[in-house]
Amino acid sequence: MIIDCHGHYTTAPKSLEAFRQKQIDGLKDTKLSPAKNSLQISDDQIREGIEGAQLRIQRERGTDLTIFSPRAGGMAHHIGNAKTSALWTDICNELIHRVCTLYPQNFIGVCQLPQSPGVRPDNCIAELERCVNEYGFIGCNLNPDPSGGYWTDPPLTDKWWYPLYEKMVELDVPAMVHVSSSCNPAFHFTGAHYINGDTTAFMQFITSNLFKDFPTLRFVIPHGGGAVPYHWGRYRGLAQDMGKPTLQEHLLGNVYFDTCVYHQAGIDLLTRVIPADNILFASEIVGAVKGIDPETGYYYDDTRRYLDAVTTLSAADKEKIFNGNVRKVYPRLAKRG
Ligand SMILES: [Zn+2]
Repeated sequence: MIIDCHGHYTTAPKSLEAFRQKQIDGLKDTKLSPAKNSLQISDDQIREGIEGAQLRIQRERGTDLTIFSPRAGGMAHHIGNAKTSALWTDICNELIHRVCTLYPQNFIGVCQLPQSPGVRPDNCIAELERCVNEYGFIGCNLNPDPSGGYWTDPPLTDKWWYPLYEKMVELDVPAMVHVSSSCNPAFHFTGAHYINGDTTAFMQFITSNLFKDFPTLRFVIPHGGGAVPYHWGRYRGLAQDMGKPTLQEHLLGNVYFDTCVYHQAGIDLLTRVIPADNILFASEIVGAVKGIDPETGYYYDDTRRYLDAVTTLSAADKEKIFNGNVRKVYPRLAKRG
């Protein structure tokens, strides 16, 4: 069985975006604010979006199950206030639940959180509990920068975040560290802000003793860990200079990397540098990078192909990356049966 730990609902009906636009318009004129029940999406509309995209790609590439979350760029926690974020998050998570209910063999949910810049993450606890306990979700996406490119909130290692971590530990769910869209024109969102977010989170973890405080807390750093594997020597050296333990001891019991790296040399490097126990298969279908690589003739995001072609991993290690490690990081997956 092949589990893809990173897929987003990028093919929701257009009425979802229209609702969001009304919500944004309502920030200027509250008379325009839409009621939640003004958004009506049928099961057939959901099927239409999923079957021609995520489900078709799963079948074509021979993957079985996708850990599925709302569109990451759409989270946009910087828009409006905590109330804006709460309603939007409620709607987006409910749609993920509906996809997972329609296709229980193919998708299992991970929630977005109702974060808002400057608002304590304690406000995310109720939504996380609701999604795990009522919807059967198995994790969350945590935005390390709810301001959308200005980094105005404390680092992930600050006690600011601890109440949310306590709940994650209690529920035994991991977080994927995942930024959203960038409203800072200096940072392209998927090309710069995403990779910066991944790299920044890892460096924050190095400087802290977060995992002494939370020995069972788990994070997945997506997009192959940003710049981390490529600069592993720098990070090892920085940790050494700071008098920290080796990265293996310091972080690798708690931090995992996915395989959303869209070329063979990148996957070769990732799998040589990062221990197989810390790598989780993922593709981030559909839409992070949409095209076909003219050098190979295959889609950039067809990450299974790169892993299959890695020659330096044993079959047992590949099995861990495709399946076993995901089950270890997301233990609630086992409850799915
Ligand atoms: Zn993503």
